[in-house]
Amino acid sequence: MKERERLPRWMKMQLPKGESYSRVKNLVNEHHLHTICTSGNCPNIGECWNRGTATFMILGDICTRNCKFCGVTTGKPLAPDPEEPHRIAESVRIMQLKHAVITSVDRDDLADLGAGFWAETIREIKKLNPETKIEVLIPDFQGKSELIQKVIEAAPEVISHNMETVERLTPQIRSAAKYRTSLEVIRIIATSGIVAKSGIMLGLGETEAEVLQVMDDLWEVGCKVMTIGQYLAPTLGHIQVKEYITPEQFEKYRTIGLEKGFSFVESSPLVRSSYRADAHVEAK
Ligand code: SF4
Ligand code: SF4
Repeated sequence: MKERERLPRWMKMQLPKGESYSRVKNLVNEHHLHTICTSGNCPNIGECWNRGTATFMILGDICTRNCKFCGVTTGKPLAPDPEEPHRIAESVRIMQLKHAVITSVDRDDLADLGAGFWAETIREIKKLNPETKIEVLIPDFQGKSELIQKVIEAAPEVISHNMETVERLTPQIRSAAKYRTSLEVIRIIATSGIVAKSGIMLGLGETEAEVLQVMDDLWEVGCKVMTIGQYLAPTLGHIQVKEYITPEQFEKYRTIGLEKGFSFVESSPLVRSSYRADAHVEAK
């Protein structure tokens, strides 16, 4: 039987604390709210909730794709819940968030791949929370520019689409998404003038040269913000970690990324896509 490896000392997580964190936690419990921060046991929950940021998932919890690194259930999703946009907007209001991050499963089963629902959710959050900044972490919408435009037209402050890994490893770990299509998604976002953001996970067997190539490719299409974190396998059935990257190497990538011109490079072992997301609205 396979056993989970021991985590290196730098992957140890701190217990969340802080006044704002406790207040948000009480509200979440009292109103039975659902966030990815809690369901995903995110290591950054203390810092993010203290900063007034949280992440929500829309369009259900069953994905039409089956990426080798992802803990989300794969299968035939249920029909979208028409109440969900309002419910998410209400959660943002109750939690008094300064910055709301929305993500979704992939909905290759829907005629518009979920783009209309995305736009409606953004509009509903804005209606109830005019002061809250919104970041959306979108799927690739199969690279269809008219669908990405629907999200752009709803005008969130930041649109993110993750590359997840380097080009060579993409076919092994992403079930349907293609490296070049994802770059085109980011180019479309950046062309709109909205802050374009992307992220990768390390520890899947990529080389330093390959990581630097992702940075160059992202920079070339107009990406302004990059997140780089350590991959952790959700279960023993998922693709396993090949290597734990040291904090020093993460710091090296951060420095190089900033030198290349990115406005923000969040690069450390526990970084996740929406870590310190509130800062990224300032990206130029
Ligand atoms: Fe939530 Fe994202 Fe922060 Fe994790 S990184 S606590 S998922 S907002
Ligand atoms: Fe997970 Fe996204 Fe891949 Fe679906 S498309 S399996 S949610 S990473």
